[in-house]
Amino acid sequence: GLVEPEKKVDSTCPYCGVGCLLTFNVRDNKILYVGGRDGDTNHSRLCVKGRFGFDYVHNPLRLTKPLIRKEGAAKTTELLDPQDIDQVFREATWEEALDFAASGLRKIRDEKGPRALAGFGSAKGSNEEAYLFQKLVRTGFGTNNVDHCTRLCHASSVAALLECIGSGAVSNPVEDVAKAEVVIVIGSNPTVNHPVAATWFKNAVRNGTKLIVMDPIRTEICRFAAYSLQFRPDTYVALLNAIMHAIVAEGLCNEEYIRKHTEGFEQLRDHLKDYDPDRMAPVCGIPAETIREVARLYATSKAAMILWGIGVSRHVHGTDNARCLISLALMTGQIGRPGTGLHPLRGQNNVQGASDVGLIPMVYPDYQPVGDAGVCTKFEKLWQTQLDPKPGLTVVEIIHAIHDGKLTGLYVEGENPAMSDPNQNHAREALAMLEHCVVQDIFLTETAGFADVILPASAFPEKTGTFTNTDRRVQLGRQAIDPPGDARQDWWIIPEIAWRMGLEWSYSGPKDVFDEMRQAMVSIAGITWDRLEREVSVIYPCEQEGDPGEPVIFVEDFPRKGGRGLFVPAAFSRANELPDDEYPFVFITGRQLEHWHTGSMTRHASVLDAIEPDPVVSIHPLDLEALGGKPGELISIESRRGKISAYARIDAGLQPGSLFMAFCYNEASANLITNEALDPYGKIPEFKFCAVKIAPG
Ligand code: SF4
Repeated sequence: GLVEPEKKVDSTCPYCGVGCLLTFNVRDNKILYVGGRDGDTNHSRLCVKGRFGFDYVHNPLRLTKPLIRKEGAAKTTELLDPQDIDQVFREATWEEALDFAASGLRKIRDEKGPRALAGFGSAKGSNEEAYLFQKLVRTGFGTNNVDHCTRLCHASSVAALLECIGSGAVSNPVEDVAKAEVVIVIGSNPTVNHPVAATWFKNAVRNGTKLIVMDPIRTEICRFAAYSLQFRPDTYVALLNAIMHAIVAEGLCNEEYIRKHTEGFEQLRDHLKDYDPDRMAPVCGIPAETIREVARLYATSKAAMILWGIGVSRHVHGTDNARCLISLALMTGQIGRPGTGLHPLRGQNNVQGASDVGLIPMVYPDYQPVGDAGVCTKFEKLWQTQLDPKPGLTVVEIIHAIHDGKLTGLYVEGENPAMSDPNQNHAREALAMLEHCVVQDIFLTETAGFADVILPASAFPEKTGTFTNTDRRVQLGRQAIDPPGDARQDWWIIPEIAWRMGLEWSYSGPKDVFDEMRQAMVSIAGITWDRLEREVSVIYPCEQEGDPGEPVIFVEDFPRKGGRGLFVPAAFSRANELPDDEYPFVFITGRQLEHWHTGSMTRHASVLDAIEPDPVVSIHPLDLEALGGKPGELISIESRRGKISAYARIDAGLQPGSLFMAFCYNEASANLITNEALDPYGKIPEFKFCAVKIAPG
């Protein structure tokens, strides 16, 4: 008969930044099924990942014992097959594994200096885990070399937002699309990457909102769009500057808003003179009249909102792309009211929170700069230790520092750089070079294969903690089941390492950590743990207990010195590596509906893996025909850095001459192909554009 749950535990989805509320239905320490839960975030809706992607937690490949690399088991750049785990690693007790992990890190710190160490934290974990991790690296390792996957997704968006409006968070929640007359969705495929949010966009359109989609790929959401601008993949700045040129030329700027709330408009106006839509049309591939119509629609609407994805940010000019979006909102005054504003859609369920709590090399919690003497003193007092005032290295810079021999010890908590970093042969070489590598995860990830010691950690439903979704909503993830075997909760493991690094920490649980975070972060100072247990979610800023929280921010001013938003002109330039005769195709990477980022969870989830079991590459039908191939056949894709084979899937939404592939398949890792060239400001690699050639097979 039907197996009934013995308990129901309210929590949130572990996947995307929408952060849907859900309920785990549990029996005998097993999740039987998952149901959607009501609340502002998702009104009980879930997508396929949230509803059917939970059984990775019960996968027999879960790590259940601490593991130490066997003596003589050499590190190579090859990925370790999980079947061969016993040949390379031996089981250890927690005591031995923790001592071994910490003593290796301590030795490097003491002999080579703190900056020879680094830590990769995770946006898959809770705010408390991320806070503890960055605190460990800063106070125990003694360096700011701490970063996480935001560097590979929205770091450039955040760099532009901090520079121009003084805050990296969204101005308005997703649900505000219902209050907008016009919504621009740019560089984002929400049906795939933020599926429940996509349903709000579609509802808004049904109620009269005009949707403008701008993306190099014509995606499913375009069916709902009043305008669908399929521009050339590296021409965001050309297109957006042309739209702003049209707004200025037609006298559609909001002069009063510009005068009262901004600075730097004169320079922007001068700069835009070179970006007449007639000149930019052949550059970006969008007719000048369409550019003007879109400009009028956005500028003259009563409330218009911009939402963007990592199509905007993952370029060498990602910060410039975001600067243009911010300028567009500022020059038209489309910010600071319901149904307006700027919303970079966050990828991981806690990438907003992990960034907020300081898992970033240049800022402490709440984006307070590490180089600011006053801020540094404040944290030295709170954490009772001396801190390094020098900003740390970012993800890709850490890989380069390993190659240069300057960095030899790494602690990786829940990240998977052997899959997620660009130019993976280079990244994997670096991981293999490390003198001491500690990996804390739930599976033998591709990165764990490079470890000296592996610490078996907890999956999402196995722990309690706070998570912050893309809207700035702080929500509680609650423990529903126990970790398997000897796997431990991360909030326990990190302090155990801290103790062994000489720190005297004492936390009795996540609530204790959250209370310390409230002292460090004025944005959440008013949110109490009790309130999180009582209410479904609390949106920050919430500075005083009892504050309702602010869904819409920047109503009066911006959190910059002087309170004004800043226009930063952006000059158009092409991608770092352009197609040529030898490598004529453009290769774009991203995600697909069923698989999440590097696939460490979703590829271990039976339903999701059954739907999408094999690596696929999307190709325009004309290109596949020209190659003499058929859908479902293998094609090889090769760049100057690597070569993979994947099954061809036709997609007429692609522009001829371009390919799209998700980066979750370790048997055909898209990041073997990608280019590690960095955006100079956000330090984000160019995942969305590199040159490749293709062949059958
Ligand atoms: Fe989870 Fe995002 Fe799907 Fe919601 S939309 S169920 S948060 S993956």
